[in-house]
Amino acid sequence: MTIGRFLETAAERWGERDALIVRHQNVRWSYSQFLEEVRRLAAGLRRIGLEPGDRIGIWSPNNVEWVLMQFATASAGLVMVNINPAYRTSELEYALNKVGCKALVLAARFKGSDYLAMVNELAPELADSRPGELRAARLKSLRSVIRLGEEATPGMFNFDALRTPASATERAELAEIGEQLQFDEPINVQFTSGTTGAPKGATLSHHNILNNGYFIGEGLKLTPQDRLCIPVPLYHCFGMVLGNLACVTHGACMVYPAEAFEPTAVLEAVQAERCTGLHGVPTMFIAVLDHPDFARYDLSSLRTGIMAGSPCPIEVMKRVIEQMHMSEVTIVYGMTETSPGSFQSGTDDPLDKRVSTVGRIHPHVEVKIVDPIGRIVARGDTGELLTRGYSVMLGYWGDEAKTAEAIDRAGWMHTGDLATIDDEGFCNIVGRLKDMVIRGGENIYPREIEEFLYRHPKVQDVQVVGVPDPKYGEELCAWIRLRDGVECSEDEIRDFCRGQIAHYKIPRYVKFVEAFPMTITGKIQKYVMRQQATEELG
Ligand code: ATP
Ligand code: MG
Repeated sequence: MTIGRFLETAAERWGERDALIVRHQNVRWSYSQFLEEVRRLAAGLRRIGLEPGDRIGIWSPNNVEWVLMQFATASAGLVMVNINPAYRTSELEYALNKVGCKALVLAARFKGSDYLAMVNELAPELADSRPGELRAARLKSLRSVIRLGEEATPGMFNFDALRTPASATERAELAEIGEQLQFDEPINVQFTSGTTGAPKGATLSHHNILNNGYFIGEGLKLTPQDRLCIPVPLYHCFGMVLGNLACVTHGACMVYPAEAFEPTAVLEAVQAERCTGLHGVPTMFIAVLDHPDFARYDLSSLRTGIMAGSPCPIEVMKRVIEQMHMSEVTIVYGMTETSPGSFQSGTDDPLDKRVSTVGRIHPHVEVKIVDPIGRIVARGDTGELLTRGYSVMLGYWGDEAKTAEAIDRAGWMHTGDLATIDDEGFCNIVGRLKDMVIRGGENIYPREIEEFLYRHPKVQDVQVVGVPDPKYGEELCAWIRLRDGVECSEDEIRDFCRGQIAHYKIPRYVKFVEAFPMTITGKIQKYVMRQQATEELG
């Protein structure tokens, strides 16, 4: 089924139930209202000349317009291109041209970045062109720019003006498009997070993401009684699939606390809306747990949610289960290229497995773990994780060579992650192939050392990377964020390790920092840390 058709059936089944709450915009819609708003926007997008298959970018933080775009583009057969809110002009230019976007929807500004000014800089022709008739030297395919907010801006359409009621003819046309659309057609191009380098545009179909959202929601045991707090970015699959699509496939309600992650807004939203679920990357859960007023909020409605995106420290998982009442929290492992989830812990799995592994393989996905020459390793051994099934992307947009590197001829997606699978099928993500450190011939997985250092009472957060070394090839460097107000020396950290972990795993360098270099999804960019640490060591 396509996503547009699915939303129609959802509105039939759960019409009067809450579909969406956007706290910072004061929006509360039932499933019927949501469908009506989606139809209006879908008709509006067609009215400005967009045809099935056309690409349209969305460059905005989390808001009601974003989720409307997700479903309206699906209904109109357009391909939505998620543009990272942290992008600047050259990245925007690259993404729009790479995917040949014909239209771009944008917020005027976000977190001190002036999106309007950036678009005008790339397309100065905009100010003198009629809306929908742009011809720009640097953005060749772009014809229309649609801005959010009330003001009128030369050369641009206004988003709200596209949301007027659709005529009977327009509705009939949309129904016809819905009839023709196939579930395996592209619906979405999502750029990967850029954790290991330049982001890549993964092309996903209705079938890819709608099904993944459904299976994820099953894993969370979502029902129409659930309200899921979604503070993770919608532009990423975490928000739009694990959040939005998991809810819509189960009649649950999506709750957006704010434009972007902010711990106070999360606590307020969970308490006020009696949310039953909460999603986040580990750094977000840490920020919520360590909020100075944490104990003052009533979080007793919480039951479930997803921690994902990067390694989930065992200590943090335990605190989430005990202190946030999330006894059924699950860990998901996935990647943009696989729609995204492929492993998920079960709410009934034994506690030790739930906090220390990413669970078992999802339904209808195959998995194998291979050595560097592609042979399946023995049970329990470490190797690269490969997955295959309905969830593997169609490919990287306009990049056959990169696609062929990632998906082999038999259809296996090479994840670039190192993993083990135990006798019961529980998977442990050991780290990224690119982050593995080889010191004097020993393979070291930074994750193991990070888990150990988390136990130090003064350590709030820690990351370990390899830096070049003339003698050993690589040496370990630990980046540590200390808890508020404490002092700690490098030797104290190394002494803590002595006698507890093998000598070659003790970080040679220790660096105390205020923050780690991060992507906007809250993922830590180890390649940036490696570069910085290497430069400092000179
Ligand atoms: P890029 O591919 O651009 O370098 P990225 O891989 O971070 O960025 P995403 O597709 O957003 O982009 O993230 C997928 C990756 O996140 C996985 O390949 C894996 O390394 C990591 N990851 C996701 N979930 C987990 C998890 N539960 N535990 C450990 N790592 C995880
Ligand atoms: Mg990746």
